[in-house]
This record gives sequence, structure tokens and C-alpha cells, in this order.
Amino acid sequence: MSTAKYWELRLEDCREALEKNNFSAFIAKTPADAKKIVIDRILPELDVTSVSWGDSMTLYETNILPYFKEKPGITLIETFGENIPRELSMQRRKEAIFVDLFFTGTNAVTESGMLVNLDMIGNRVGGITYGPQHVVIVVGRNKIVANLEDAIYRIKNYAAPANAMRHGKKTPCIKTSYCMDCKSIDRICNVWTIHEKSHPKGRIKVILINQDLGL
Ligand code: SF4
Repeated sequence: MSTAKYWELRLEDCREALEKNNFSAFIAKTPADAKKIVIDRILPELDVTSVSWGDSMTLYETNILPYFKEKPGITLIETFGENIPRELSMQRRKEAIFVDLFFTGTNAVTESGMLVNLDMIGNRVGGITYGPQHVVIVVGRNKIVANLEDAIYRIKNYAAPANAMRHGKKTPCIKTSYCMDCKSIDRICNVWTIHEKSHPKGRIKVILINQDLGL
């Protein structure tokens, strides 16, 4: 039996656990497949005129954002981009809280169907938690963990140091590869969220992608 079967089973278990927690959950084979699920299955059910996002490497892999940039009748609030000055980016992240549809990723998803995240500023977890009418979370299979304890360990000792390196932060973890519980001005670990369930039911839609993606 191939490992493909292993991941099919594991993702299906996770999808069912998420559904039990009132998330809408989907399985995609690839990031391109996730984009197709958004366009063909999620969007037709929604009334969307404004879209934004919180930083996520997995989201960028899906290439869904350019679709909204070109779609008539949709305002895409661009929160990140090389040519967007920091002050404008921060202003837009506030505006993103009011959109109809908010995209981002998650740092971990537990086998029991909880989403676990750690943010620097809070705009990403803020959008997941309250504000946008609908939220779509894209997540690679490598983010599935056994439980809350493993989620926290994964985030503090892998995702956070790796993200600190990715963003060029000057934190101690970029030298150790694990968390030093720093007091650095560059500390990226400030706000934890645990989404046990989606409220209202179906507001948060999770697309599990059968690939290792993001950090
Ligand atoms: S608390 Fe500081 S040292 Fe620990 S992972 Fe976060 S940024 Fe790195």
C-alpha cells in the first residue's frame, strides 16, 4: 500500500473532525485544486463584494488572490506587497476586518479539528476570529498535529523561528532554531488563538491540501 493512502485517510479523518466542530471542510490534492474549490464550490454559495487576506505562504501557493484582483464587482484590499508602504499596509489590515471574505492559513490543525495560531500583530488571527463574514483557511497536511500540546510545540519550536528567519527578524530563535521566549522588539509571538469551533456554523471554511506547504 502506498503512502498516498495514508494521507488520504489522515486528511479525511481531519476533515470529519473539523466538520464536527462546525467548520466547513474540504480536501484538495494540490494548491491549484484548492483554488478550484474556492471558485467552484465556496464562492457560488456566498455574496461577496470585498476580499482580503492575512499573510500565509500556503495561500500564496494557491494563487487565488490574482483571481479576485481581476474579478469585476470585487474590491480586493491588498494588505501585503512589496510596493505597499508599511503605514498603508497597516491601515489596510484594519480595513480587512470588515470584508466579506478573508483568506489566510493556520499554524496548526489538531486531529480533533481545532485551529491553533500565534500572531505578531493580530490582524491574521483577528480576521479569523471576528469581522469578516466568511473566512477561508488553506492548510498543508504538514500542519496536522495530534493535539493542542503538539500544536504549541510545533509553533514555538518550528513555525515561529522559521517565520522569524523568513521575515529577517533579529530574535534569538534565528540563532538557536527554537524559542527562547525573547523580549526582543522583533518578537513575532504575541497573540495565541485556539478555534475550537466555527461560529456561526460554516463561517470558517478549511481546505486541507494533500501536500506539505508553508511553515
Ligand atoms: S518568542 Fe521570541 S525567541 Fe521565541 S519563537 Fe517567538 S520570536 Fe522567537
